[in-house]
Amino acid sequence: TKWVYPFAKGQADGRADMKELLGGKGANLAEMCALGLPVPPGFTITTEVCTYFTEHEKTYPADLKDQVNAALARVEEDMSASFGGKGGDGLLLVSVRSGARASMPGMMDTVLNLGLNDETVEILARVSGDARFAYDSYRRFIQMYGDVVLGVDHHHFEDLLEDHKDERDLTLDTDLTADDWKILVERYKEKVADQLGQPFPQDPHDQLWGAVGAVFGSWMNQRAITYRRLHHIPADWGTAVNVQAMVFGNMGDTSATGVCFTRNPATGENLFYGEYLINAQGEDVVAGIRTPQPLTILEKKTANTELPAMEETMPETFAELDGVRHRLEQHYHDMQDMEFTVQEGRLWMLQTRTGKRTVKAALKIAVDMVDEGLIDESEAVRRLDPGQMEQLLHPMLDPNAPRTLLGQGLPASPGAASGRVVFNAEDAEAWSDRGEKVILVRIETSPEDIGGMHVAQGILTTRGGMTSHAAVVARGMGKPCVSGAGGITVDYAAKTLSALGEVVREGEIITLDGATGEIMVGRVPTIEPELSGDFSRLMDWVDAIKTMGVRANAETPLDAQTARNFGAEGIGLCRTEHMFFDKERIIHIREMILAANEADRRAALANLLPYQRRDFIELFKIMDGLPVTVRLLDPPLHEFLPHGAKDVADVAKALGVSDEAIEERAKSLHEINPMLGHRGCRLGITYPEIYEMQAQAIFEACAEIIQGGGKVTPEVMIPLIATKKEFSILKAVIDHAAAQVRAEKGVALDYMVGTMIELPRAALRAGEIAAGDDGAEFFSFGTNDLTQTTFGLSRDDAGRFIQIYREKAVIENDPFVTLDREGVGELVGIGVERGRAARPGMKTGICGEHGGDPASVMFCQSVGLDYVSCSPYRVPIARLAAAQAAL
Ligand code: ADP
Ligand code: MG
Ligand code: MG
Repeated sequence: TKWVYPFAKGQADGRADMKELLGGKGANLAEMCALGLPVPPGFTITTEVCTYFTEHEKTYPADLKDQVNAALARVEEDMSASFGGKGGDGLLLVSVRSGARASMPGMMDTVLNLGLNDETVEILARVSGDARFAYDSYRRFIQMYGDVVLGVDHHHFEDLLEDHKDERDLTLDTDLTADDWKILVERYKEKVADQLGQPFPQDPHDQLWGAVGAVFGSWMNQRAITYRRLHHIPADWGTAVNVQAMVFGNMGDTSATGVCFTRNPATGENLFYGEYLINAQGEDVVAGIRTPQPLTILEKKTANTELPAMEETMPETFAELDGVRHRLEQHYHDMQDMEFTVQEGRLWMLQTRTGKRTVKAALKIAVDMVDEGLIDESEAVRRLDPGQMEQLLHPMLDPNAPRTLLGQGLPASPGAASGRVVFNAEDAEAWSDRGEKVILVRIETSPEDIGGMHVAQGILTTRGGMTSHAAVVARGMGKPCVSGAGGITVDYAAKTLSALGEVVREGEIITLDGATGEIMVGRVPTIEPELSGDFSRLMDWVDAIKTMGVRANAETPLDAQTARNFGAEGIGLCRTEHMFFDKERIIHIREMILAANEADRRAALANLLPYQRRDFIELFKIMDGLPVTVRLLDPPLHEFLPHGAKDVADVAKALGVSDEAIEERAKSLHEINPMLGHRGCRLGITYPEIYEMQAQAIFEACAEIIQGGGKVTPEVMIPLIATKKEFSILKAVIDHAAAQVRAEKGVALDYMVGTMIELPRAALRAGEIAAGDDGAEFFSFGTNDLTQTTFGLSRDDAGRFIQIYREKAVIENDPFVTLDREGVGELVGIGVERGRAARPGMKTGICGEHGGDPASVMFCQSVGLDYVSCSPYRVPIARLAAAQAAL
């Protein structure tokens, strides 16, 4: 088996599409090499070795060593340098870098400067002519290797460094001389020997295998496991290991290291964007220890900083980097996120990958790239994450609202958020478990904070740049983040943050604007987003591609209007009971429920009729001829019962009976298990006059619309059908009401009567329910109830243990969020198939919460539903998901 894939400028065994085997980093390093870009040579040990390692008690395949040695020899030859410094004049040091299939920022540990020991450090000093640099590199290596591979915590080394500085009265690392570092190297080694009972490994090959094992081992560390759980990455993917010749960004003022994006990852503008540090190595830029400098003069101006741009300090290298930028975009046809190092004026590319971006940037980049001819319209549609797009649809801070500014940091991830301040990830999780909205405030974040970041509304850090851990992770999560707010002081012990003489304590509310970097005291009101321009162009492409319809669940005129603005093609679910909750009306519905006989019930219903009719007229007008599915009364009646003595007295008075009689009647309506009780069509069967009134209101509203020259096609939907008989009885009630209105008003009415499929029996008996003149003319799968009744799981109570079910991998997703394809999905499939067999071409849709969940929309396409229906705000998400499902 080939376990090792070498790469070097101009030649590579791997390719970009081999991410499964080589990991993202390795595959792209190979690709850049093949493009002839300047990449330090190296080789990738495949993810298959990781799997072998995990499954074989941390051992390797027998022939791996030979393959590694052969690849290492090629790197030595390429660099004219020797690993271990035994051969020619040069000294080869390597980095050992992890690289999983999907990028897992900060999860895995990279070891730099590997190959240094007591002898090679002397060679490095001689070759570089800089003993200080050599010993500084050696002590960094001991610390990094000690920490990552040997498990000697980095604070041991930091303490030794601090002690030494105190002894010598030095403040900055840069104040230390070669001799200082030499002394510290000795102390570091002693510390390692002390902690481990054996000396720091001197043999470079031992070092190499130690680091390789640490990378493979880290695949199973807790941080990595947590990250994978949050991002649904399977454990069996494994990570690859990249071993690569070191280049040095810390060789003086003509050296540098940086990270950059081919376009602005926050706004999407087609402008080169990045940060760099002169005379620095590795993670210095993202670690937030020194303030990074802007890449371009334009960025420098925008950020209003005095720090010189790379474009000014190293114009030639910058030009070369800009060339690489264009080359990579032309090649990958997508925005890239690159890491580079400059060693004494010479540019080296260390990484490229598809850049993470805000959803705003994703939209702009996709539309721009279509205009630039880099991608076509369907590719643009494919590139947007429907889940993320929600951010574009939600309110932003009202620019005219008064605000008390507390401070400003970098606009690291856009969006606005208010919440209570907490100062660590644990508190964030605890507070949010209690239902509080929180803002996580940290000096800087690290991978251990992921859980807390996940539950926070927004993240604020006082240190670190646009590419700091907090910024990158927040953008990935689509959460507002303000980073590097240097003017704010955080006191973890006191749990306060202070700025401008103001002190904010734990639990107090602040507001973040991730688009401007502003931090405000208290809550700031928000306004509706802008949905024209790029957004509407993309949605035009979406509509041209998708084949399923997208409707909204709406009952109020406001919801209906919002839904239409968001492009809904009809109403898939109008829950008529929502029309009853109004103060003025509820008394009548209470009269209706509590009436002792049919005559009283009819009298109460007669009072409700005009309200219902008016509601429908309004709704039909807004929907202007688009289909509207009206569901007849569904919930158990006790939901409308009077609360307290005053309510009871009011109803008693209206009905002309005693308070006691009302209380007695209310008690008699009590059910042990109301969700499986007297509700849905069961109400219609027992009190047909309810559905009669509702049907009359619908048809009279239709008549009025039609007489006014309008168009309307209601779809009357009967809930909770289990048997054909229930359906045919109630269909007769509705048809009768239609016939009466027709006769009375003299208008032709066009309507359908159908049912929700929300009980397993209905799905199984769909053929019978759809058959014949007394059969259902359409189905709408009510997957909320269908999930409850299929799992036998109460949606209102399941929250308590669903999370534990997910953690123990009993289920992968919450079935109330993402439709359970295997079980509930099979019932949906059966319902569609049997229904259509009985009634060819029958219209089918879905109206549960799942209608707005992208993965569930994908499923709906696969079983051939005609439309999905979801809440108004999710309509654009469902449209995009439907288009992706059709591609
Ligand atoms: P991560 O996956 O966390 O980004 P990397 O493997 O990319 O980790 O390494 C982190 C940083 O270490 C890189 O951005 C780069 O600055 C530095 N680095 C890695 N390999 C080399 C190398 N061969 N020469 C110089 N610097 C390197
Ligand atoms: Mg990297
Ligand atoms: Mg239901």
